[in-house]
Parts: sequence; C-alpha cells; structure tokens
Amino acid sequence: MTDNQKFEALYPQLEMLCRQAGFELFGIAPAEADLPHVLYLNKWLAAGHHGTMSWMERYAAIRSDIRAFFPEVKSVVMVGHNYYTDGINKPEQAHISRYARGRDYHKVMKKKLKTILAGLQKIEPAARGRIFTDTAPVMEKQWAVQAGIGWQGKNTNILSREYGSWFFLGGMALNLSLPATKPVTDYCGNCRACIEACPTNALEPYRLDAGKCISYLTIEFWNQPIPAEQAARLENWVYGCDICQEVCPWNSFAKPAVEPAYQPQEINVNPAFSDLLALSESEFNDRFRHSPVHRTGYHNFMRNVRAAAGLEYKTTEQPTVEK
Ligand code: SF4
Ligand code: SF4
Repeated sequence: MTDNQKFEALYPQLEMLCRQAGFELFGIAPAEADLPHVLYLNKWLAAGHHGTMSWMERYAAIRSDIRAFFPEVKSVVMVGHNYYTDGINKPEQAHISRYARGRDYHKVMKKKLKTILAGLQKIEPAARGRIFTDTAPVMEKQWAVQAGIGWQGKNTNILSREYGSWFFLGGMALNLSLPATKPVTDYCGNCRACIEACPTNALEPYRLDAGKCISYLTIEFWNQPIPAEQAARLENWVYGCDICQEVCPWNSFAKPAVEPAYQPQEINVNPAFSDLLALSESEFNDRFRHSPVHRTGYHNFMRNVRAAAGLEYKTTEQPTVEK
C-alpha cells in the first residue's frame, strides 16, 4: 500500500473517531500557509480591531503559520460541536450567551480531541499531532473554512447549512498528509440581518470591531469600565452576546445539542438582575465554577451586571486567566 492509499483509508477512520466522540462537523485542510487569511489578520491587527487583546498581537506569528504551532504539521483536522439549546431571552431579565449556560466547553472538547488522537495512533502508530480548542494561537475560524466545516459569515462566525453557527470549534495539527475536504460556498448572499441587528455597530460585512462588540467587552475586556457608549447598549447581556447569531436565518436550522455538558443550568437562563447584583464573590464562584462565565472573574462579571442594569460600575480586579 502506498502512503497515498494509506492516508485515503485513514480519512473515513478518522472521521468515524470524530463522530463517535460526538462531533457533528468534521473536515480536513492541507496545512499550507493560508496567505489571504494572514493578510486579513495583519490588517485587522493593524487597524486595532482586536481592542485590548494584546495576546493576539503577541502570538500573531504563530497564528499566521500553523507550523510555528506544530512544526511537523501536514494536515489540519477541524471539528465542530453543536451547543445549541433552546431558551427565549426574556426582555426584563439578564442574558448569558448560550455557549456559557452549561459546563465549560474547553474541558469537554480537549478530552474528546485527546481521545481521538489516541485512537488514531492505535490505527496509525506514526501519527503525531497537537490539539487545540480556542486557547491556542491557531486561526481556528480560518482553518474551519479551509476544512469545509462552513463559511465565515458576515457576522464573522462560521456557519454550517446543517447546524447554523451554534457550535464550538476545535482541531488538531497532524503530521500526516491526509486527503482534504472541499471548502463550502458562502451562503450569506444579500442578507445583512446581523449587521443591522448589532446594537453597537460593531459589524461591517465580514469584519468585527472587537472594541465595540458586547461579547468582547463583557468577556475579554478586563479591569476597566465598559465605555459609556457601549454600556448604554448592552441590551441586558451580562456575559457574551448572541444577537448577530439569533437573527441569522441559517440558525433556523439549529438542532438541539445532545452533549450533556452543554445543557443549560437553569440559573443561567434569564437570571434576575436582582439575584446577580446580590452575588457575593463566593456565591459567584459556587454558581459559575464549571461555566465559562467563571473565566471572567467576579469583579468583571459584576461590572457587566451593573452596566447592563444601568448602574454605576468600576473594577480593579487583576485578570484571572493567562492568555
Ligand atoms: S456579538 Fe453582539 S455586539 Fe458583537 S457583533 Fe454580534 S451583535 Fe454586535
Ligand atoms: S445574518 Fe445573514 S449576513 Fe449575517 S451571517 Fe447570517 S446569513 Fe450571513
């Protein structure tokens, strides 16, 4: 058997491992540097659209070239994990982004990816790889596009015709030259629903100004007040913002998540402002210990709650998570 034949045969086996792990979306991209996306990243950084996420600049070289992340890389395997759960946001209550209502996806995804890599190594002992899911300096969205997981919509999320955009991304850089999956077409067409719905005007087609985005301001923007202009437009979001996904017509194809870890904790759906405003630090830790909300820290979270409730806010907490 030639190497090519061996790798052809590995594709369905690897896909099967990913499906068995529960990933609904799967694709493979060749690892050649992806110049248009590198140019896009550099332009985006130069324009300051990354806000205070200085770690994006720090790791730009690694982000730009997956070989800096894993030198032996020949293929990038990408997976998507559906996290959609129902639940209407009530207008008078606080809103927590859908992805953060259950348990922290980082741990769930990492565990599954490790299992897949170990499974692959049983089939092909020469396989070596490095996994990533959100925390590594890898351009996951661009690789997802290259691997045919979906297209990058005008709201900058990755969209799938089968699942909409409610899915987490993860993947692994592998030392095997596996066959590639065909990228999919952009199906945004003339739609501008996300751009028109964004309350802070953070979106232009295919471009996000993170400094204006509620999701960024309530999750990544630490230790300072949310700028007054954006604070006035939080629309009850205290952690993340789903507006540009909720209005997306492709999300009418969303399917309920089967992963138990992503099922929402009742207290994270439509929490009352009065309950959140009364949280002590230890209550915050107890309540959100297993949720991504915990990553933002008590003081930043309370700043969000006070800002969304239209109250004065201030925080001096040091970041709790190293990026
Ligand atoms: S997450 Fe919210 S604030 Fe950010 S771009 Fe989407 S709609 Fe706008
Ligand atoms: S709302 Fe419309 S323009 Fe925006 S991502 Fe969805 S399909 Fe594309």
